[in-house]
Amino acid sequence: MYREIEESQTLLINSQSLALSKQNKKIIKFGFGQSPFLPQNNVLNALENAANRKEYSSVQGDLELRELIAHFHKKHNGLEATSENILIAPGSKILIYSILLAFLEADVFIPAPAWVSYAPQAKLIGHNAIRVKSTFEARWRVTPDELRNAAKNKQYTTTILILNYPGNPDGLTYSETELKALAEVARELDILVISDEIYGLLSYNSTHLSFANYYPEKTITTTGLSKWCGAGGWRLGVALLSSGIPELLKKTLIGIASETYSCAPTPVQIAAREAYRDFDGSRSYVNAQIEVLKRIGSYCATELNKNNVRVHAPEGGFYIFPDFTLHKYKLNKAGIFTSNQLCEQLLATTGVALLPATAFGFEPELLAARLAFVDFEEENAKNAASIEQDFPKVVEGIRLIIAWLKGI
Ligand code: PLP
Repeated sequence: MYREIEESQTLLINSQSLALSKQNKKIIKFGFGQSPFLPQNNVLNALENAANRKEYSSVQGDLELRELIAHFHKKHNGLEATSENILIAPGSKILIYSILLAFLEADVFIPAPAWVSYAPQAKLIGHNAIRVKSTFEARWRVTPDELRNAAKNKQYTTTILILNYPGNPDGLTYSETELKALAEVARELDILVISDEIYGLLSYNSTHLSFANYYPEKTITTTGLSKWCGAGGWRLGVALLSSGIPELLKKTLIGIASETYSCAPTPVQIAAREAYRDFDGSRSYVNAQIEVLKRIGSYCATELNKNNVRVHAPEGGFYIFPDFTLHKYKLNKAGIFTSNQLCEQLLATTGVALLPATAFGFEPELLAARLAFVDFEEENAKNAASIEQDFPKVVEGIRLIIAWLKGI
């Protein structure tokens, strides 16, 4: 008997889209969100020069890199980390998995919507995954009341909440008031919080607030190079353990690392030093991306809203989470009752790939989907004359969705 696990839906949509484009069908890849931006030149050069660094690094991660990261995050968002409290791994995904794995049994609170991999990870380990509900009207935010509701389904003494902001799939962040209110409930219910802030540097208003600052007792912040540095395939993730995290949990995480992935790739860690060393350089590098992402994200949201596809304008990252509920009657008449059917039909008729709301923890009937608005080339982003000229695929994709809705 094998464990029940399927290929991650994000990777799957990418391979379906690739298969269609091999049949010479034009695909607008709104399904898979990957940064179109290259890492900074000094970071690229550093990786090239470190190709001969073939040795294993320490399990916890290169010490110089950990020191640079501590310094960088102190400046970026006031996080009180030290090199001792930082773990580096091949991606933040495996860090989140390792944190979950460190517990023998736990209730894992996972918001809906939330990133595709949290629930499968929790289930693989055998934890009790509990969805924390949210709505379009609540801007897809987790609220203290919903956390208390989720606690009614608890089975174990350990509770873990995975928060993610700016969010995948919603592109939204939390205000300071919201974070403080959540921290209060976390304290009251004694929750360990994994704060997935992988899109933190891509917060459009450039002041990303870290949950650990409001709940230093029990927060692990995860981040890395995959999004702001556009280097997902390099596999470099970071976990910052807040001051209240017990030494024994850290030792357990290092133990898991040493028996599984061993370390992040050494050349990538050496290159990452350069990304974290030059705070101002990295800040202006991400600011240029933010300008472009914000412009395209608000274009998509405005055009969709004009056509009764409800969506909140993004506040960070690459995604929006359009809700097609106002078109339900028409969609139902066309035989579309679920988000999967919506995405299948849309892809088959228009070549636009979206990722259905079911992937993010919703019941099949919620007619929503994630749209990753990063199907463009970095080169074009540099010109940024007009949205139509520079981001033709994004504009075409939005127009195709609207025309499809009008036509059904
Ligand atoms: N968390 C979220 C919300 C993500 O979107 C992703 C990547 O898609 C990850 C974590 C994993 O990132 P990494 O490349 O660091 O493993």
